[in-house]
Amino acid sequence: MQIEKMLSEHKLLKEFKYDLKPIEKGYSNRTLYINLSDNTIESKPVTQFMKDKFVGGKGFGLYKLWNAVKPDTKWDDPENEIIMAPGPVCGITQYPGSGKTLVVSISPLTDQVIDSNVGGYVGPFIKFSGWDAVEIQGKAERDVIVIIDGNDGTVRIEEAPLEAIDGHVLGEQLTEMYAKDEDDRRNIAVVTAGTAAENTLIGLLNFTFFDTRRKKARLKQAGRGGIGTVFRNKNVKGVVVRFAGTNGNMNNVDDISPINAAGIRIHKQIDKLDDQQCRMRQIGTANIVEVMDAYDLLPTHNYQYGSHKDTVKINSHTFIKNYLKQNTPDGCWYGCSLSCAKAADDFVLESGPYKGDKVLVDGPEYETAAGCGSNIGLFDAHAILELNFYCDTYGIDTISFGTLTAFLMECYERGIINKEITGGLELTFGNKWAAYDLIHQMSRGEGFGKIAGQGIKRMKVLFAEQYGADINFLNDIGMEQKGLEYSEYMSKESLAQQGGYGLTNKGPQHDEAWLIFMDMVNNQIPTFEDKAEALHYFPMFRTWFGLCGFCKLPWNDTTPESNATADEPAKMPEHVQNYINIFNGVTGLNIDGTELIRQSERVYNFQRIFNIRLGKGLRVHDATPYRSAGPVTKEEYLSREERYDGQLVELIGLDPTSMSLEEKIAETRKYRENQYEMLTDAVYKRRGWTMNGVPTIEKLKDLGIDLPELLEVVKKHL
Ligand code: SF4
Repeated sequence: MQIEKMLSEHKLLKEFKYDLKPIEKGYSNRTLYINLSDNTIESKPVTQFMKDKFVGGKGFGLYKLWNAVKPDTKWDDPENEIIMAPGPVCGITQYPGSGKTLVVSISPLTDQVIDSNVGGYVGPFIKFSGWDAVEIQGKAERDVIVIIDGNDGTVRIEEAPLEAIDGHVLGEQLTEMYAKDEDDRRNIAVVTAGTAAENTLIGLLNFTFFDTRRKKARLKQAGRGGIGTVFRNKNVKGVVVRFAGTNGNMNNVDDISPINAAGIRIHKQIDKLDDQQCRMRQIGTANIVEVMDAYDLLPTHNYQYGSHKDTVKINSHTFIKNYLKQNTPDGCWYGCSLSCAKAADDFVLESGPYKGDKVLVDGPEYETAAGCGSNIGLFDAHAILELNFYCDTYGIDTISFGTLTAFLMECYERGIINKEITGGLELTFGNKWAAYDLIHQMSRGEGFGKIAGQGIKRMKVLFAEQYGADINFLNDIGMEQKGLEYSEYMSKESLAQQGGYGLTNKGPQHDEAWLIFMDMVNNQIPTFEDKAEALHYFPMFRTWFGLCGFCKLPWNDTTPESNATADEPAKMPEHVQNYINIFNGVTGLNIDGTELIRQSERVYNFQRIFNIRLGKGLRVHDATPYRSAGPVTKEEYLSREERYDGQLVELIGLDPTSMSLEEKIAETRKYRENQYEMLTDAVYKRRGWTMNGVPTIEKLKDLGIDLPELLEVVKKHL
């Protein structure tokens, strides 16, 4: 359809004009509030209190959301918000990975707070347009788009009935619609969701940037927790941000010299070391498919196994050889020399409404290759990219889609569900056509796809109530916690990673802590205290990226030579110092490594208390499905029999030769579940929480966040 025709149907609901002013040391010092129920648009000040306690990014998002909702607010209530916040460092171009945005909302999957980080140009352009956060509340009556023009100083809400909903089409339409000419397309960034986002609970947000080499809008995803579902529930079709004039010091930093120095250092390191180390510039995060397989960590057939003989068909070399264009600087924000944002060009689709189209597929990232590949028994690179494309354009999370499909396939193969229940879908491991049908049904909101799109937590209850399935078994094999589907690592042999997943605020996503190599491979954290220290430090350190607007990948995906002699090499001290120098250079503050962690601790504890306020966030919610900790079934035990038998002898003091298989599974389970409880005790103690997982008043005082509204929540649980 012609752009002019679409535009002619737009109805302006509200226009808001604001003064343009320069950013001051990383902050615009105001946030944009939009209410779609009554078309309110307002500017709100950023206070010193907000900066001191919450820094920015995810911190600002949580603070805004706390003030917007009530303890009984549900994800689809009008008062729930979507907050997009870039953070004070976001938008610098000197250091790789400095363009991230954090998105915060109440999740339809977990009914508590979710945060998700995303690349693309939306966040930097929001900041350059004059806003430290955009807060969207209320519900529009009909589909609308929001347009923020950072050069004109206007914000508009327009009804937009004719545009597409699927991300890859709408991203292009809105880019073309709001660019003043072809060259101006680089100045347009768009947020979209997709048709499956409105029919499932696993919706994501696509954040675009215009790829000037490919001349196409690229899609980066805020994938986790169903924020795209909230977006469509509010009847938002898209958010467009236009900003022309990006330069190297948009943030008006306090002192650019430490930022330049850190940037020069790391660009040189990446240039010298990336080809020998992670090969991010060649393949992106999918470089680890074969590494995970080699260490028995690649989730296979719903996390039953950790490797497969056919992994070679979906490893990084296969993707590079057959699908990915090389030597293209694929950064998702200016200045990212790590360039991991890979894409398959001219990919021909073999199913669905876009069958036969040549499309651009953003990816695959490792999580997608594992979740939509090995975990559903699909060792087929084309099928992974096909699912990758449809997840993105339909606006659903590849991780949740992969993990819930793996659960369904195991249920199908074990006879818990059948063809009658699935409406004819033969959901056996490796059946790509069934996986394709499932995702297209999700897009249309039809058939079994509508049920699957509710996520594992709700499906477990449904299968038990309606089809007589054993709820205990479903709880063991359904890889979700807090309602969020697990991301794609096997944690059975790493107690620390079981905690890295289970003891998170948002649910089992690895962006808080990824400790498998430290724990399982390098044995650097042998005691409970060691593991608890790691489960304190790393989640806090990694939280900090989301406060500032950093991408975490350049932190440890290139290991500097100085690490060989570092005291704590896992922390990458040289790179940590880079981040401190950059933060201080931008803001003019003078934090050190200790204050960096305390900045995160304030926000992390605030988020924990926020979850408690919403009726979650206690020890009972940190329990994990047993498959994340050990072998549920006989087949799983037998696949690693030698290892498990050895552990019975060495760790538990039992003689496996005199035990039945059932006894061995039961004793292993008793031991491993007890280990997780002991780890939980140790972590809560280290974090300054009660044994029920509640931050103590002393901890809040120590952090300077003993605010009346927080004390009111925690006192009910002490
Ligand atoms: S490392 Fe990758 S995800 Fe991170 S900013 Fe660079 S291109 Fe984007």
